[in-house]
Amino acid sequence: MVSSEPIFTDKDAARAYLEAARWSDGLYCPHCGGMDKCRKLGGKSHRPGLFQCGECRKQFTVTAGTIFQRSKVPLNKWLMAVSLMASSPGTVSAFQLQQTIGVTYKTAWVMFHRIREAMHEDCGMTLDLRRKTIARLYILKSIEPEFSPPPRTARGI
Ligand SMILES: [Zn+2]
Repeated sequence: MVSSEPIFTDKDAARAYLEAARWSDGLYCPHCGGMDKCRKLGGKSHRPGLFQCGECRKQFTVTAGTIFQRSKVPLNKWLMAVSLMASSPGTVSAFQLQQTIGVTYKTAWVMFHRIREAMHEDCGMTLDLRRKTIARLYILKSIEPEFSPPPRTARGI
């Protein structure tokens, strides 16, 4: 089920994929919503994928406000976990995540619960997460053709 797609094996490819998915309508700041003057910070002094908003001056990465934020787990492993759980809803356990993506059970358990909550409508997540990221997670449909996301209207996003 889990393929050797670069987004599942390479954290930079995974980040580029998420950036393209989240900001397909244009880059915006997750702090203030500003769409102008956001710029990528380059160079060795900045961690990869860091942006700065020209309006509120705050820095952000693609994971801000998502279930992936503040996680030490590489993004490619997150995408693998999401893909696994999205393609077989209700049948993948935290133990299976641990085995498949190669993390500790404690980490797998946290990932399992974050993803499961994100896949439910009343998850109490931030609006930004629900509106933007969860919808975009279903882009994985293109990689896992069997998986059909529920209609947008049914999920209130
Ligand atoms: Zn901003």
